Amino acid sequence: MDSVTTLEISLPAIVANWRALDTRHSGATAAVLKADGYGLGAAPIARALAAAGCRHFFVATPDEAVALRDAIPGAFLAVLNGLYPNAAPLYAASNLTPVLGSLTELAAWQTHAKAIGKKRPAMLHIDTGMNRLGLSPQDLAKTPDLLAGLDIAYVMTHLLAAERPDDPSNERQLHRFIQARAALPAAPTSIANSSGLFLGPAFASDLARPGAAVYGLNPTPDLPNPMTPVVRLRACVLQVREVKTGESVGYNACWTAPRPSRIATLPVGYADGFLRSLTNRGVAHFDGRPVPLVGRVSMDLTTFDITDHPAINVGTWLDLIGPDLPADALADLAGTNGYEILTSLGARHPRLYLERNLS
Ligand SMILES: *Cc1c(COP(=O)(O)O)cnc(C)c1O
Repeated sequence: MDSVTTLEISLPAIVANWRALDTRHSGATAAVLKADGYGLGAAPIARALAAAGCRHFFVATPDEAVALRDAIPGAFLAVLNGLYPNAAPLYAASNLTPVLGSLTELAAWQTHAKAIGKKRPAMLHIDTGMNRLGLSPQDLAKTPDLLAGLDIAYVMTHLLAAERPDDPSNERQLHRFIQARAALPAAPTSIANSSGLFLGPAFASDLARPGAAVYGLNPTPDLPNPMTPVVRLRACVLQVREVKTGESVGYNACWTAPRPSRIATLPVGYADGFLRSLTNRGVAHFDGRPVPLVGRVSMDLTTFDITDHPAINVGTWLDLIGPDLPADALADLAGTNGYEILTSLGARHPRLYLERNLS
């Protein structure tokens, strides 16, 4: 059976992006692979980055880490969501590093260390303003006992608005982090995500944690994208029909033909991350030219007005994401960000890993 959609992922572009980020500071650079590598497939990406010299990887959950372990056997692999309940033996068995973010997690990790008679490294997450995960300064005041004997691989914090260089929260978080560290045993630090690497040397640390920019999303939304494009989503026209003036297309008749029109139906819908909010707003590309999405996006299908594109027929491939319309631009049309576009793509598109850049 021939496939009718393809998600092309350029591994050299991913490696080039990771290298470019790595040159922005003197510390080490990790890769964040949560949500199955931002929807692009964590294992092949991790292998390519490990071959390029990446030694540190982050995922969100222990399940993601266990699934990824075999792809990068010796690498540092940390779980950002922390230590899940009763999961310490599982972390130890797969040599996972928890990012400890609460007193409960700290205590559980220490209890486990006592039980097995062996310290295992952990990261310590300091909350400097996100109010999501992490130990607060008040928590830290209560921790001397818990910290004693803890093997701290890195002390980290996470910036809440790094993509906005003028946001005062950046400096405020940095200041709180410096203060919090003073109360801790000396340990290497981890601060910047993708955008944090563009905030200047004050935000440099021993281990940067970029995700989005590795996958080609723009870490500097107010400036041109410095990253290399990584992703192309293509779909093949399933059917073409002629629609008379005044006839509607799709659920709830959201679009009515203003002239005799040709409509192409593509096998991609909101279940594939082609968000329903793209109804009457999305656009595909053919030969570098835009093709407007018309009517409601349905679960598995989307319709496009190809009246001005006589060369498009059944079997013609259109680009839905690609150099002509990157995930960030599609996100603007959908009213979201590029992260949601990529992580919503789902598993239905056959993934094709290119050993070259997108052409
Ligand atoms: C997701 C995440 C990152 C990566 O952020 P990007 O904006 O994708 O670079 C880094 N650190 C933490 C704690 C995260 O949750």
